[in-house]
Amino acid sequence: MHQLRCEARTIAFVPTMGYLHEGHLSLMRLGREQADILVVSIYVNPAQFAPGEDFEAYPRDMQRDLDLATSVGTDIVFTPDDDMMYAEGFQTYVHPERLGKGLCGISRPIFFRGVATVVTKLFNIVRPDIAIFGEKDYQQLVIIRRLVADFNFGIEIVAGPTVREADGLAMSSRNAYLHDDQRRAALSLSQALQQSQALVNSGERDAGKIIAAATRHITSFDQTTVDYIVIVDPETLEDLTLVDRPARMALAVKVGSTRLIDNMVLGN
Ligand code: AMP
Repeated sequence: MHQLRCEARTIAFVPTMGYLHEGHLSLMRLGREQADILVVSIYVNPAQFAPGEDFEAYPRDMQRDLDLATSVGTDIVFTPDDDMMYAEGFQTYVHPERLGKGLCGISRPIFFRGVATVVTKLFNIVRPDIAIFGEKDYQQLVIIRRLVADFNFGIEIVAGPTVREADGLAMSSRNAYLHDDQRRAALSLSQALQQSQALVNSGERDAGKIIAAATRHITSFDQTTVDYIVIVDPETLEDLTLVDRPARMALAVKVGSTRLIDNMVLGN
């Protein structure tokens, strides 16, 4: 990597936890277009899973991932292990403050500390010029932008749009957990977001009413438990009561025991 940098070649980086799908590959294609060298990491980061979450169960298929990453022109696939990332004695964490406390941070209080820490380490190892993150994990994207600014990383963060299945379900490695009936219920997330967009486009401005309608829709499906549904400022992630300017609607819902997230823009 050092030699590549000396040759003044630009490096794009896509960090992932593997079990790659079209969403990941779309980010890799963006990286491929924007730099000379494309580096992808595959690492299921234990620091972002709390006890009782799905760290052990998280789907893994390294050979398939390597084939997929290579098929879109990845030059280097970085696959560190826990001994490398969290060697004995490790104790220094990067802890996002306010941005990490709401939304997913409420039910997953150590999650963004784990994400910010591993991304900091990966940035320091790979030292990319550009890093590409998915809008699918919107709060993460906002936190990474903040991290890069706060720690003077000098890395350009590029956001890739959410890639969806034909019926609208946001692609996720965790979709592999869903049984057939749960797969149908999982569709309620993107449906609720689309219905909310339609409400806003027809003139509804009251965030509370939009959230209530989305909640009704999602909970009308079996096996769904809403973790949160919010309408927030796209940069500060503060709650909005009125959708009178560009806003993000974001939600997290458990379908059975699988926690899914999704988000969309509201308004223009
Ligand atoms: P993960 O492997 O889930 O940690 O995700 C790695 C990267 O892929 C993150 O930047 C995610 O936001 C992004 N990503 C995951 N799912 C999608 C999707 N459906 N569309 C676009 N990007 C995604």
